[in-house]
Amino acid sequence: MKIHWQNERLIVAEGDITRFDGDAIVNAANKSLLGGGGVDGAIHRAAGPELLEACRELRAREWPDGLPVGEVAITPGFRLPAAYVIHTVGPVYAKSEDRSELLANCYRNSLRVAAERHFSRLAFPAISTGIYGYPADAAAGIVSDVMRELLPALPGLEVTLMFFSAADAEVYLRHA
Ligand code: ADP
Repeated sequence: MKIHWQNERLIVAEGDITRFDGDAIVNAANKSLLGGGGVDGAIHRAAGPELLEACRELRAREWPDGLPVGEVAITPGFRLPAAYVIHTVGPVYAKSEDRSELLANCYRNSLRVAAERHFSRLAFPAISTGIYGYPADAAAGIVSDVMRELLPALPGLEVTLMFFSAADAEVYLRHA
């Protein structure tokens, strides 16, 4: 992972989130929780088949209709270096409707779970900015607002925003 910027609480980095060695990584999952493309597929491949099994159990026990957009569910990380995976479902981008609160909720709820579990290191991918089509600069503004709003109240937590390319990290830093 390459660090582009950091302060005491927030790190803006470029790299593969499946290699993040901390308490948890966030997965940009889909409603089904049963895996998909992009970062979701990469996380399932790296975590091994136990992750899919754990997600199936979550569906059966807690989310029979799938995980709603903006909500979170947690599983172990299995073969990942990270101990846990916090699964969240980002909104699909739409020009006709402002879905920024839904995207903000993915980050807020993930931070809440991390705080409840006393995690000290958490990494996020750029939720919704791949297959779900959210413009990277609009997402950056939303994410930086949530971090500004919530990180001061979560003193034990260090958050890494893990972008998949240098260009994506730079977009964040320009629009944050
Ligand atoms: P969504 O469906 O929420 O848009 P995607 O997985 O398609 O999710 O993309 C979300 C972001 O994750 C994109 O910016 C994509 O480049 C990035 N990404 C894909 N694979 C990885 C990975 N292994 N580590 C970190 N980020 C990744």
